[in-house]
Amino acid sequence: IIGISESELREYCKIKGFPAFHGSQIFKWIYMKGIENFNEMTDIPENLRRIISKDFLLYHLEVTNKKISKDRKTIKYGFKLHDGRKIESVFLKDSTGRVTFCISTQVGCPVGCLYCATGKMGLKRNLTSGEIINQVITLSKYEHKPNNIVFMGMGEPLLNFYNLIKSIQILEAINIGHRKITVSTCGVIKGIYNLAKTGLNPKLAVSIGSAIEKKRKMLIPYAKTHTIGELFKAIVYYRDITKRRISLEYTIIKNINDTIEDARTLAKFAKAASAHVNIIRFNPIPGINLLKPEAEKVSKFKEYLIKAGIKVSERYRRGNEIKAACGQLITEG
Ligand code: SF4
Repeated sequence: IIGISESELREYCKIKGFPAFHGSQIFKWIYMKGIENFNEMTDIPENLRRIISKDFLLYHLEVTNKKISKDRKTIKYGFKLHDGRKIESVFLKDSTGRVTFCISTQVGCPVGCLYCATGKMGLKRNLTSGEIINQVITLSKYEHKPNNIVFMGMGEPLLNFYNLIKSIQILEAINIGHRKITVSTCGVIKGIYNLAKTGLNPKLAVSIGSAIEKKRKMLIPYAKTHTIGELFKAIVYYRDITKRRISLEYTIIKNINDTIEDARTLAKFAKAASAHVNIIRFNPIPGINLLKPEAEKVSKFKEYLIKAGIKVSERYRRGNEIKAACGQLITEG
């Protein structure tokens, strides 16, 4: 039943001959009170509870492993899905105590970014909206309710568009509004336009890889489906329609995209798109033949962007020791 929206539950109650408001009550029991059993819904008539338990399964994800960083601020959860497939999600707490959940949208990922372990798995399947929301419910139950949700875990969210949108709608209905949600994409052009048109307006983070066309296509094989100019147009469209500033996620890799020429091209792109740049130092990943960038080069790179008038931040490699940092999520599928 997790993954079904409030309006669908209201409709279901009507079809079964009960008042629609029971649908809203059921919605609250499932998503906000996190019940384990339909009998816990004490304000729902017993005969309706019986019908629901025949029609639906109240399925929660099975926690298969949990890894906690030394400072206890990053916790990686491994989950088993009903078909035996596995995914990972990450709980992150910052120094001010704010909590972010990094949520997966696919088992594996078809995009194959060179710097990402998930990409090496290929795509096993899309997650349903229920499996996406289930990650949020489980992390909230075992850890803490989130201040922010980032769709930056396993998978390319915009290639599982329908389930992503349904999940965001459910999150909004349980008071996790669009201002608290970030969708990260490697640049699925059609998805960016469609997301803008939904009116949901989550924050958009675009993994750019490189602003140099040839390098971007080498780092992100999916980028061969479009030009960097098309990506630029889509980003500007999203910015203008949603009035939200875009963030460009830049994984900096030694001898690949760490030169001043790379910084110059990125600055030009970011300035024209009025985007913020978020630098992520490449996380060493077994089996991936790329190197972490030198500290001095990263400083010079950032300095160049700042001097060019770009707002820059750096996402530190939190969770590296438990393989929960960006690009490190991987399961055997
Ligand atoms: Fe997929 Fe994101 Fe990894 Fe690229 S970085 S392969 S889009 S999960």
